[in-house]
Amino acid sequence: MNFDSFSFDQRIVTGIIGCGYTIPTPIQVRAIPEVLSGRDVMGLAQTGTGKTAAFALPILQRLLTSNAPKQGPCRTLVLAPTRELALQIHENFISLGKQTGIRSAAVFGGVGANPQIKAANKATVIVACPGRLIDLLNQGVLKLDQVDTLVLDEADRMLDMGFMPDIKRILARLPATRQNLLFSATMPHDIRELAGKILVNPATVQVANTAPATSVGHTFYPVHPQLKVGLLEALLDVTKYDSMLIFTRTKHRAKNLARKLSFRGHEATFLQGNMSQNQRQRALDGFKDGTFKVMVATDIAARGIDCDRITHVINFDVPDTAETYTHRIGRTGRAGRSGMALSLVTKEDERLMREIEKIVGRQIDRRKVEEFDYDQPLKSVPGMDRRGPAPAKHKKTYGSDKRRPAAPTRRRTTKAPVRTKR
Ligand code: AMP
Repeated sequence: MNFDSFSFDQRIVTGIIGCGYTIPTPIQVRAIPEVLSGRDVMGLAQTGTGKTAAFALPILQRLLTSNAPKQGPCRTLVLAPTRELALQIHENFISLGKQTGIRSAAVFGGVGANPQIKAANKATVIVACPGRLIDLLNQGVLKLDQVDTLVLDEADRMLDMGFMPDIKRILARLPATRQNLLFSATMPHDIRELAGKILVNPATVQVANTAPATSVGHTFYPVHPQLKVGLLEALLDVTKYDSMLIFTRTKHRAKNLARKLSFRGHEATFLQGNMSQNQRQRALDGFKDGTFKVMVATDIAARGIDCDRITHVINFDVPDTAETYTHRIGRTGRAGRSGMALSLVTKEDERLMREIEKIVGRQIDRRKVEEFDYDQPLKSVPGMDRRGPAPAKHKKTYGSDKRRPAAPTRRRTTKAPVRTKR
């Protein structure tokens, strides 16, 4: 199937070609006809599946066919949980709708409101974070009484971030008759409830996100929990990567690990929920433009990352569910490239490892890093024993903070090829 089958206006076709899209993604194949028909849609898809174009393209088409004024008032409102997602969606509308003349504006907090108010009042499409939008509505500087299409994007994350009351307030300002599109990566109880309240006879479109992309290779690295940081460093040393995304289970661990890695000379940054908008943006921009080669993040924080250069995802902590594993590794192997998912696994992770293998559909290789000293002394912790591999032949003593030179000078420009063995 190609984009011709949707009979888009030629100006939209030009936008699609300009973005380099040739074949619609599965979510686009399923969602575009439903949105074009005017039906409400419940879309189960995560970022990275092409879901933005799945709603942006048919919305642009409907705006053109209904002869909507191109410079406002607002006819389509898209709500998104974070500034970076709002900006990405806004940029998608701009590039796909380049030839249409339809204006889009982004509305989010952390920056001055006046330019946004000006832009929003001249826009037919507004992509907004709930908090700032409520401010503008309360000040009476923006009206949404002509909105006929509402999109709630990453709805599960918006609820996670406590936006439900804001969303309710915004809904109360919209005309009752409108098309509603709700996109969510997961379908917990509160999303079902929200869908039940706002969607009328919706079409449910879902892309199978349980099977990870086949362009991604998987490896497990068994290790004792105390040696994880050292093994990670050894992996960084022997792995040839472009950009690497490392996942930890908690915010605190993300921050600490990134600091440790930077201290040892790696170009590392982190992303977690407690950062200011500016800190977040700096980290994201630096990761996207390659200033930082390594990003350490938690699951929720990482959802906003849109970076095609990620060659490796490392699970420093194995995720709680196999579904989260799929989400994480969906960050690599994008745009037709191949990627690697490396997981540091401990004895306690065995159940999850089996679940991950089930979802991947095969047994995953267990490997050791030859240069890593798996036999170094451990702190004595009651109830823990040593897991795993035999002593390596050429020992380099990663893993002990004391024995490794603190080396801000250890910045590498070239990296050694991967040298791992089974
Ligand atoms: P999204 O899930 O909307 O964040 O999209 C993920 C990435 O896929 C973005 O970089 C999009 O530009 C890109 N994309 C969306 N649709 C297509 C398509 N049909 N062909 C190729 N790339 C696409």
